[in-house]
Amino acid sequence: MPFSLPNLPYATNALEPFIDTMTMEIHHGRHHKAYVDNLNKVLEGQAALASKSIEQLLREIAQVPEAIRQPVINNGGGHANHAMFWEIMAGGAGGEPSGPLADDIKATFTDFATFKAQIKDAGVKRFGSGWSWLVLADGKLKILSSANQDSPYMSGQAPIMGVDVWEHAYYLKYQNKRPDYLDAWWSVVNWKVIAERYAKAKAGKL
Ligand code: MN
Repeated sequence: MPFSLPNLPYATNALEPFIDTMTMEIHHGRHHKAYVDNLNKVLEGQAALASKSIEQLLREIAQVPEAIRQPVINNGGGHANHAMFWEIMAGGAGGEPSGPLADDIKATFTDFATFKAQIKDAGVKRFGSGWSWLVLADGKLKILSSANQDSPYMSGQAPIMGVDVWEHAYYLKYQNKRPDYLDAWWSVVNWKVIAERYAKAKAGKL
């Protein structure tokens, strides 16, 4: 099997009380696993595509035959988005970024509070399922949202950080209160990893 479910970098209860254990178990062990399993199924007999990294597969989505392109977008995007999502969270995290990422956030969005408000706004206003993103696009930081599991890689953007606003990410604990989940989420954001992703993206290596 070319693609595999990455282990969580922490225990399923590590993000309590902000993200509950059962949500993490189902989200990682069932939802993310299903994206990986379905991606592998869709790419059966497609050795050239299956040997790419997930990022490369999405960046080069136009090369995927039309007959299987949408399932690759859905499940490949789902795999890439969730692999990123687990990585940019941690227990006892939160706070504010430092270094070049902090400087560029302030230069682009005025200040950290405005940046947070815009990420939240993009997530709240995404109708249905999707993601709110900070991406590097043409060398500049940009906030946007995407529908379903659409990945920024597909439009040549590098995902620096993204927050999952599918109901499966928050419904058990927050029910319909997506804004409350988005407020709580800042307490588990791992700025160290996000700063590393930003440095990689600027070097063209994300
Ligand atoms: Mn999800």
